[in-house]
Amino acid sequence: MVIVMNRQAKLAEIERVEAVVAAAGLTFYTMEGIQYWAIGVKGETQRLASVALEALPGVERIVRIQTGYKLVSRELQDSDSIIDVDGVKIGGGHFAVMAGPCAVESREQLLEAAEIVKAGGATFLRGGAYKPRTSPYDFQGLEEQGLAYLAEASERTGLKVVTEVTETTAVERVAHYADVLQVGARNMQNFALLKAVGQSGKAVLLKRGMSATINEWLQAAEYIVSAGNPRVILCERGIRTFEEYTRNTLDLSAVSAIKRLSHLPVIADPSHGTGKWHLVKPMALAALAAGSDGLMIEVHPNPAEARCDGPQSLNPENYHKLMQELQAMQAFLKGRPA
Ligand code: PEP
Ligand code: MN
Repeated sequence: MVIVMNRQAKLAEIERVEAVVAAAGLTFYTMEGIQYWAIGVKGETQRLASVALEALPGVERIVRIQTGYKLVSRELQDSDSIIDVDGVKIGGGHFAVMAGPCAVESREQLLEAAEIVKAGGATFLRGGAYKPRTSPYDFQGLEEQGLAYLAEASERTGLKVVTEVTETTAVERVAHYADVLQVGARNMQNFALLKAVGQSGKAVLLKRGMSATINEWLQAAEYIVSAGNPRVILCERGIRTFEEYTRNTLDLSAVSAIKRLSHLPVIADPSHGTGKWHLVKPMALAALAAGSDGLMIEVHPNPAEARCDGPQSLNPENYHKLMQELQAMQAFLKGRPA
């Protein structure tokens, strides 16, 4: 059960509701959402049956949700959440592109990539400093040095930085340099990491696990929000199927489904979703049409020389073409009747 408080509810009113819940012997967690205060009540909520919760000052409504996710659900909040990353917004009609190389490889490579990304109109620079690689022999990233290059590129271009954090002990370090913490597909159900990024104070990009259902993905998001962090962006990055031509199967139906089930923004990553650079543009346009709030695109100054994910990375020319076509698609979609 979630007790939704008015955004304007006074502290004393929130505390009074908490006291009522505690008096019934129930535990709760109180969190500040973007558009609400919510008191999530755990356990046998029927113990509150005789209390007229709705009548308490400051209470807006009571939401009884049976699913494993509540705070991220559309039932709790009908309007889209807009995530504000230091003035750059995503969700609720604000479309954002996050672009850059798979991995930060060198200062020169990253600064060049950042200039390209900026010139094309993206607002976020992506790049992994800590790379979760299938093989222990593959390039693992420049680690903290890579974070420093990202921060320098951000300083030069004004782009916001999104980069992956792979373990709880690194959250503080990555948060020191990044604007958005990325939780990768392989860590979607690393619950300790979800709780840690939930306490980080930074916006989080939560990628869908490669074998995760939509329901499991939303419950992973719930971990972050219930740990006190409402600024979560979901990212569809393809799932494992029997298909072998593509690296993953980009599930664009999940983008539309998320829009129905959750108020959180959702973006698509056609780079990891397909593994092939020539499929990135068509899938990016399709994601936009499916209701995606943004895109994550791998762009490399010279994909043939990339140390990671070259085959799925756009070169500067193809990236610029994509950005132009996205604008045309956005204009087309705006002109359509709702
Ligand atoms: C990435 O974005 O660099 C990445 C590793 O993606 P994923 O977690 O989706 O595989
Ligand atoms: Mn990659």
